[in-house]
Amino acid sequence: SYGDLRNATDGFSSSNLIGSGSFGTVFKALLPTENNLVAVKVLNMQRHGAMKSFMAECESLKDIRHRNLVKLLTACSSIDFKGNEFRALIYEFMPNGSLDMWLHPEEVEETRRPSRTLTLIERLNITIDVASVLDYLHVHCHEPIAHCDLKPSNILLDDDLTAHVSDFGLARVLLKFDKDYFLNQLSSGNVRGTIGYAAPEYGTGGQPSIHGDVYSFGVLVLEMFTGKRPTSELFGGNCTLHSYTKSVLPERVLDIADQSILHSGLRVGFPAAECLTLVLDVGLRCCEESPMNRLATAQATKELISIRERFF
Ligand code: ADP
Repeated sequence: SYGDLRNATDGFSSSNLIGSGSFGTVFKALLPTENNLVAVKVLNMQRHGAMKSFMAECESLKDIRHRNLVKLLTACSSIDFKGNEFRALIYEFMPNGSLDMWLHPEEVEETRRPSRTLTLIERLNITIDVASVLDYLHVHCHEPIAHCDLKPSNILLDDDLTAHVSDFGLARVLLKFDKDYFLNQLSSGNVRGTIGYAAPEYGTGGQPSIHGDVYSFGVLVLEMFTGKRPTSELFGGNCTLHSYTKSVLPERVLDIADQSILHSGLRVGFPAAECLTLVLDVGLRCCEESPMNRLATAQATKELISIRERFF
């Protein structure tokens, strides 16, 4: 109930605030009955689209389970005596925060900053986790689901850095979707941070599709293994990747000062540069301009796993 949640989160105070997103604020809480940590996303019902986001999240996540999906434990809704509507979503807590913090620690306040850089093998494992959950959503669910907002801030890491894809506020069960709402959200700026990750066809009225997710995944791969945001100079400083060239030297691309991190776990005689070139090539093939030319998630997963087997 709302009362229990208020108690568990100590009245939603700033001391247990984790972050705020497009439609709400996320708090860390201890559920006394279960004695486990949870993340409580309190929706800002004044925000246009908050209700639709709440419904999309519930509808997409209600019947599906995958080790690389964030677990929605329950949803809570109530109205107080003044008639104010309260809605919250309760998830399993991810102690290592979002991937975004790990990729761009310089932008994170010191107290929350990760203490080290992700190694090459950790990045590859996270990439494979995300590819396999996309394959599950696109092909193996009872109804195909497009996430529609894949980006590093929506990928959460548990204590052993396993990736869990979160934030299904824009996700569409593809058999029944509201196209106008979707396009509206993309253009209204409600979907923060999406520029650079959204497929080019979404900018010209394209429908949500599994191919759109593949594009965002490709951008994510390039970001993971270059360390650069898609809006950076490396990618031409805008949301298209056409100016990106394969000639950029992979060893220079992932700008990790400590080379031992780059090489940790690599098999003897297998250069990091070669591994990076192959992974970046997978990313680039996911970012093809034409949706039908992009890799399928099953193929991307297979290729990434075989790169891991060969080099580590
Ligand atoms: P956005 O809409 O910007 O993607 P969210 O509202 O989903 O953001 O989440 C805001 C922030 O809260 C995230 O960037 C993440 O750091 C944190 N967060 C969300 N869910 C969890 C969770 N289950 N465990 C830990 N942290 C979380």
